[in-house]
Amino acid sequence: MSDDVRNVIIIGSGPAGYTAAIYAARGDLKPLLFEGSVTAGGALMNTTDVENYPGFPDGVMGPDLMDGLRKQAERFGAELITDDVTEVDLTASPKIVKVGDDVYRAHAVIVATGSGYRELGLENEKRLSGRGVSWCATCDGFFFREQDIAVVGGGDTAMEEATFLTKFARTVTVIHRRDSLRASKIMQDRARANDKIRFVWNTEVADVLGEDRVSGLLLRDRDTGEESRLDVTGLFIAIGHEPRSELFTGQLDTDAEGYLTVESPTTRTKIPGVFACGDVVDHVYRQAITAAGSGCAAAIDAERWLADRG
Ligand code: FAD
Repeated sequence: MSDDVRNVIIIGSGPAGYTAAIYAARGDLKPLLFEGSVTAGGALMNTTDVENYPGFPDGVMGPDLMDGLRKQAERFGAELITDDVTEVDLTASPKIVKVGDDVYRAHAVIVATGSGYRELGLENEKRLSGRGVSWCATCDGFFFREQDIAVVGGGDTAMEEATFLTKFARTVTVIHRRDSLRASKIMQDRARANDKIRFVWNTEVADVLGEDRVSGLLLRDRDTGEESRLDVTGLFIAIGHEPRSELFTGQLDTDAEGYLTVESPTTRTKIPGVFACGDVVDHVYRQAITAAGSGCAAAIDAERWLADRG
């Protein structure tokens, strides 16, 4: 264990974590940030064009945007370690963050571990991600003007995404594995009343078809096993999210879905000196810009908390 006690350790390297690092570094807090190993750079590393991040009139590739944020954090003196945090003790003083047997200590900790989109688990779904397969209608709906597309899922998010997508698409087919929706009545009514939306019941997506881009789906009827092809150029997967909050179980509070809870509108958690931001907290907006904004807020909250404790 090093004797060094950091001002602040940031866990996570998506837009929230890097933005927190930029602000903390410019606040002279010399932050240490753990990027994660496999998914360093966060969710946008898996996408191509990002057209809604302000400041890029021609859009920006997801990995380029993240590389820019990373370099900006480093430029101001943030120290970055490309490893996964494996254990934390946030109630200790100073707080303890472990990477295997390596122990790091800090007065304040900012959690920015993001959330994963639930996947169907198909090989071609991954391969065609960003090439017709999407998990975010707000991000990608615009790319599907006058096209036939599909949404898989039966909850509120699926209905909301399907309804939103009718602004762009010619038709939206909602594929649901059951014969009734889980979505609230108001969301269902809105979707059912939309004549661009049609429903395919008791059906699962067995495969995503296409060489370089999605050209169709292989559907399987869950009762009869019968397979059919649906010609679509886009597939939006809306079967839920998994906030990465397990590391903090028993230490930080979560809501019923596992999102960390904070004293909104701040990023304070119930433990003094521990702040949380980005998609591990947010189940409403889930955008790069909102994650970055809350990362900024977390760094400012941490800076003020450190200043107040003297
Ligand atoms: P993330 O980006 O998920 O980053 C979390 C980070 O935490 C990761 O770096 C991970 O490595 C790290 N981490 C997790 N656990 C640990 C640990 N134990 N130790 C160390 N590090 C850890 N939004 C838009 O605004 N526009 C778009 O066009 C857009 N397109 C998208 C396309 C795709 C395919 C996806 C998946 C998302 C898209 N989004 C888009 C949403 C956007 O990417 C997210 O809202 C945003 O990345 C959330 O930022 P975050 O920092 O909270 O989390």
